[in-house]
Amino acid sequence: MPTISYRLPQVRQLATELPGPASRALAERRAAVIPAGVASTAPVYAADADGGVILDVDGNSLIDLGAGIAVTNVGASDPAVAEAIAKQAARFTHTCFMVTPYEEYIAVAEQLVALTPGDGPRRAVLFNSGAEAVENAVKIARHATGRNAVVAFDHAYHGRTNLTMALTAKSMPYKHGFGPFASEVYRMPMSYPFRDQAGLTGPEAAARAITAIEKQIGGDQVAAVIIEPIQGEGGFIEPAPGFLPAIAAWCRENGVVFIADEVQTGFGRTGRWFACEEEGVVPDLITLAKGIAGGMPLSAVVGRADLMDSVHAGGLGGTYGGNPVACAAALAAIGRIRELDLPGRAAELGARTKATLQELAAAVPAVGDVRGRGLMLAIEFVREDGTTPDADLTKAVAAACLKQGVLVLTCGTYGNVIRLLPPLVIGEDTLADGVAVLVDAIRAEAGVPA
Ligand SMILES: *Cc1c(COP(=O)(O)O)cnc(C)c1O
Repeated sequence: MPTISYRLPQVRQLATELPGPASRALAERRAAVIPAGVASTAPVYAADADGGVILDVDGNSLIDLGAGIAVTNVGASDPAVAEAIAKQAARFTHTCFMVTPYEEYIAVAEQLVALTPGDGPRRAVLFNSGAEAVENAVKIARHATGRNAVVAFDHAYHGRTNLTMALTAKSMPYKHGFGPFASEVYRMPMSYPFRDQAGLTGPEAAARAITAIEKQIGGDQVAAVIIEPIQGEGGFIEPAPGFLPAIAAWCRENGVVFIADEVQTGFGRTGRWFACEEEGVVPDLITLAKGIAGGMPLSAVVGRADLMDSVHAGGLGGTYGGNPVACAAALAAIGRIRELDLPGRAAELGARTKATLQELAAAVPAVGDVRGRGLMLAIEFVREDGTTPDADLTKAVAAACLKQGVLVLTCGTYGNVIRLLPPLVIGEDTLADGVAVLVDAIRAEAGVPA
């Protein structure tokens, strides 16, 4: 692994209780002007961030196992990204690609077309957020096929806009009270090895979903199937081997656009550039965001030229889509992912971390499942019966970690999953310390001391 140098000390160090006085003062100002609907995982306010640490406004140095939800794969202040942003901002911050286009957009599209799986002519179009990319992938699929129905899966998360709420499986907090939702969205059973009947294979789980699609909708009515190759917010659910290839093959046979939503799994996170490469699945369209631009808001739809080019001129776009500063950041971030071999780093650090967690699972019955690939790893917590989700324990573990200066995120349909998704540039020792704190917290909260 290439060595990485950092600007901030990569250590966990608490200067005050959490949250400290400066964070508490900001929380008070926040409560006066920001609605409660915007919630934060940790009540500590960031002052600086680099590599695998976040420094808060009270001088506490926290180990970051969340990467701002899989965004800062190259770190939150990578020098090459920061320099590219500054240089581009000094030239021009915006002209609008739909008004006066610029090279940076084209260069990002070239990179994305080259990096994502698939051969044959392909295209890329840029937007601002993951939800916007998903919306546009569905628009393109509907336009290209002339069909309406869109299939999504149990436990799916695709965003918070109206269409993407409809595609998302979880009511609270994403959808509750926000309907009516977009029509012609159908939800099908996912492959969820830990919770499926024992022994159900990937192809069998795919057949279950395909039968439901054919009976409930009709294959020739379906514009697109959208799926996260490893589900994110839904619980880092990794479908059984063979599930994704079987779904993709059915789509191909039925003229259905197969959309891989790699917003969370992309850009090295899972130990490969894109998670669908694991099983050689080639999506018709792929949605990208989060890790794409070192923290700048940028997203993309990349895929088959015949589908993308079916849309009339002016049918795709947006005022800020492919903003030049965000594009400059993306080019630098992609360069760093390549230069530092961050997919390889994620694979290596992830394998080590997963082994530690699997040892823990063998000793602690409350750890029902350890899963994921690369630095996209999850622990699912259960009660004594081995299956009932234990969201309380999950919350307690996350709180205990934070108290010790380790930031971890929870997820899952049942709120019973802790997910690890650190910046891919995190130092080995920093990661090992963060994981050790997590392991101790789990043992303590589950009542199984070492
Ligand atoms: C986060 C996420 C989205 C939505 O991205 P935003 O940038 O928050 O709109 C969509 N799909 C997946 C898989 C995600 O993880």
